[in-house]
Amino acid sequence: MRQQLGDVMGVCRICGKPAGLFRTIHPECAAARNKIVTSIANEFEQYMWAETPSSPDDLGKRVRDIALAGDLAGMDYQHEVERGLANALSIAMADRILTNQELQRISNIMTAFKLEGSSLPPQSLDDFLKLLTLKDLSEGVLKSRLTISGDLPINLKHDECVMWIFENVTRMEPKTIRKYKGRSRGVSVRIVKGVTYRYGASEGEPVDETTLIQRGVGRLYITNQSV
Ligand SMILES: [Zn+2]
Repeated sequence: MRQQLGDVMGVCRICGKPAGLFRTIHPECAAARNKIVTSIANEFEQYMWAETPSSPDDLGKRVRDIALAGDLAGMDYQHEVERGLANALSIAMADRILTNQELQRISNIMTAFKLEGSSLPPQSLDDFLKLLTLKDLSEGVLKSRLTISGDLPINLKHDECVMWIFENVTRMEPKTIRKYKGRSRGVSVRIVKGVTYRYGASEGEPVDETTLIQRGVGRLYITNQSV
């Protein structure tokens, strides 16, 4: 089949005007769009870095004004806003600790732009939930942030709730092996309760060593009473 000229004459996806043979964007439109996208990204970053950030409403208004001035709308606008949230979150998670202030700002961004966790790339969401769980555990908060629908393939005790489910976790079980070691006890590192990693012992007397043996891959359920 012969191709029609109209099929190869591109239309600029930003201004909608003819862009020329095989082209889908005017270079000047692309440059202008880049500026808008960078300005929006800066707004989100500054909101996270600022010692005293503006109100979430102000952030929302500034981002919307920039988008409006640059003809950024619809899915393109939504995409930049979601990217702003993801970037804000990576700033907050860079040190692998979520402070209350960081959480507050993330929550403000979500509210200001009507976003939720599902707007995040899956990996960011997963990291975020893991950090939240660790934050809870480190602060002794033993209540679930998670709502689970449907049946769970594990039996929970009364008052027990699932705090988070880690997918594709390698299950490790402690296994005790008797080895002969010297008087030097070496250095002991407790990995988890009941599991100790020991090194630096010299030969001589029998020592029971507990090591972790891989038992398969599956889901790890963290509840407020057990793992
Ligand atoms: Zn154009």
